[in-house]
Amino acid sequence: TSIAHDAACIFCKIIKGEIPSFKIIETPLTYSFLDIQPISQGHILIIPKYHGARLHNIPDEYLADILPVVKKLTKVLDLDQYDKLSDIGYNVLQNNGSIAHQVVEHVHFHLIPKKDEETGLI
Ligand code: 5GP
Ligand code: ZN
Repeated sequence: TSIAHDAACIFCKIIKGEIPSFKIIETPLTYSFLDIQPISQGHILIIPKYHGARLHNIPDEYLADILPVVKKLTKVLDLDQYDKLSDIGYNVLQNNGSIAHQVVEHVHFHLIPKKDEETGLI
């Protein structure tokens, strides 16, 4: 369960299991799951188990737990027909504010496999 959560937030509901998700890795402070509208196969979202809309709202201990999870995902995620992300390319993306294309108001990092030239960024 999240320590600071917003009952109306879709990602807080995912953390609590109130909305189903395809979980990839979970730690005491971090939750990761497949994006429902993937930009490429294996597109993952990594979120703090703390409700905050922008990066600057998240306590350091939560932020410090996230990048090691991203790193682990690049080594363990085995894409169908492709090598691990650590052997190919990938983008890590984190949007803050609607002007920066943020839609969901709970901080999230995108991990987007870059398997061919056609795979775009958000
Ligand atoms: P943003 O534009 O806010 O950085 O990205 C939000 C991301 O959340 C989008 O890529 C979108 O597909 C994803 N998303 C939105 N709602 C859900 C949901 O209910 N489940 C999952 N798995 N992903 C979601
Ligand atoms: Zn939330």
